[in-house]
Amino acid sequence: MRTNRRNFIKSSISTLALAGIPVRFNLISKEHKINFLNDKMKLTYKKYDLRLKHTFTIARSSRDFVPIVLTELNHDGIIGYGESSPNVRYHEDSESVISFFNKLNLSKFNDPFDYVAIFDYVDNLTNGDASAKAAIDIAIYDWLGKKMNVPLYKLWGLDKNKTPYTSFTIGIDKPDIVRKKVEEAEEYKILKIKVGTDSDKEMIDTIRKVTNKPIRVDANEGWKQKEVALERIKWLKDEGVEFIEQPMPASQIDDVKWLRDKIDFPIIADEALTKLEDIPTLASAYDGINIKLQKCNGIHVALKMITLARALNMKIMMGCMIESNVGISAAAHLSPMIDYADLDGNVLINNDPFNGTKIIDGKLVLNDNPGLGVTPI
Ligand code: MG
Repeated sequence: MRTNRRNFIKSSISTLALAGIPVRFNLISKEHKINFLNDKMKLTYKKYDLRLKHTFTIARSSRDFVPIVLTELNHDGIIGYGESSPNVRYHEDSESVISFFNKLNLSKFNDPFDYVAIFDYVDNLTNGDASAKAAIDIAIYDWLGKKMNVPLYKLWGLDKNKTPYTSFTIGIDKPDIVRKKVEEAEEYKILKIKVGTDSDKEMIDTIRKVTNKPIRVDANEGWKQKEVALERIKWLKDEGVEFIEQPMPASQIDDVKWLRDKIDFPIIADEALTKLEDIPTLASAYDGINIKLQKCNGIHVALKMITLARALNMKIMMGCMIESNVGISAAAHLSPMIDYADLDGNVLINNDPFNGTKIIDGKLVLNDNPGLGVTPI
């Protein structure tokens, strides 16, 4: 399907060129592109491939690298950095992100301080495209923090000492690789284990043989039958697991309610949560939500989600895609407000193009530079 799409884009560009219409972008190349929004604000973006240290396998896919799109919002001599890490689970890829950027026309806005109106416009421009919208949102917040010369956590009145420990994610793999990954995760206090396949017991047994650290488990919608999910969750509870994330497909909310009636064990919604409006319904089946900036249009929606989930007495986790330090820092600045952090997306790669938030002995550590506090390497 992606090949067809690529061919379609290539042929569309050729058609435009033949018709004498200037083609501003070559959507295929990874070179830096410039999209002038208006005379006052300028958005630049570039594709970048994050390279994974290990092939990363979850219940539905396996990957060696992750294409992202980095953004820069330039206004008044200040650059705000943003990032889109699109995920096919949410019907996005780097080409759809660039296609979204080409639809933007922000010429009616004066500067990034029009951010409420800008977010409203961006959110309503299309259905979906959450990670593309997040890339605009993150760049605007970074710009605002820099313009006001405060780190974002301070802008939101948060205590940077209250950042949580992040879990370190171990993908589905063979026992010898799993053992190696657990060794590499020595500085992390909490492990997050991917399950949802026939090798679940082997994964957990392998890890329990080498460490007694607290573990959290993510099935990524892998168990399709509620009886199977119940049996696995009972077993995980006996293994001392802290909670289970998305045990069943997002669409099977009635089955998750059934599970919750059968067993007292925290169940967190991840794939089932994409919009603010999902949360009241999810509260009837799940104990908490996993907020990811890349699936919820960015920080401005995440702030509302945190408030709503707290009002509904739900636990709040923040997760990530495979992302650079830009996306991770954006979530990390919000993290003093949450219960569980799973913000290790940039430590699973070996070519992060930015410095910024650090993880020291497993804890998220924010710096005091303004905005996100990130700098290109
Ligand atoms: Mg998850």
